[in-house]
Amino acid sequence: MASITPKEALSRLREGNQRFVSGKLEPRDIAAEIRNTASGAQPFAAVLGCIDSRVPPELVFDQGLGALYCARVAGNIVDDAVLASLEFACCVSGAALVVVLGHSDCGAVKGACNGLGQGTLTKALEKLAPAIAAASEAGGHSLPAGDDPSFVRSVARENVALTLAEIKRLCPALAKAEAEGQVDLVGAFYDVETGEVVFSDVETP
Ligand SMILES: [Zn+2]
Repeated sequence: MASITPKEALSRLREGNQRFVSGKLEPRDIAAEIRNTASGAQPFAAVLGCIDSRVPPELVFDQGLGALYCARVAGNIVDDAVLASLEFACCVSGAALVVVLGHSDCGAVKGACNGLGQGTLTKALEKLAPAIAAASEAGGHSLPAGDDPSFVRSVARENVALTLAEIKRLCPALAKAEAEGQVDLVGAFYDVETGEVVFSDVETP
């Protein structure tokens, strides 16, 4: 399985984000990275993030080619294809960490809060309904939901926690790998104003 522990994988991401925030990215030899990964790669973590153009996981965690599995979908929600990708990443390929990466000012969350009705979007954004309900219960909103930045942030945070729970509920193989200590599943939240990622649901041994 994984060549590094879940804790080491988390440290790599934390350190990478610190480099990103400070603007001191690791110098990269892209040509060498291409050569070194041509015959295969051993990504150490899998990230489920949003499609938002401001939150590319490889960049915000300052990782090179072959380091991360990345699944990106509006609102970082799960469906069967996403679950299969995460299960493959950890249970077949040996990644040691799953990160559900939400972010502030999320357009998908705003759309869901405003009841955006447009084709296939509606069905996907219905998955955010439990997070909206949880955030409403926790404090609600003053402005219309999607226009209230603190409510949108609250829904996005709830969504990270609920998505983590969904992954464990719907993917027994990942839940088992976590119970056995091979994999850790953690939440993370990216602030579009600072570039900083704050992790949550981290097990402290
Ligand atoms: Zn988003």
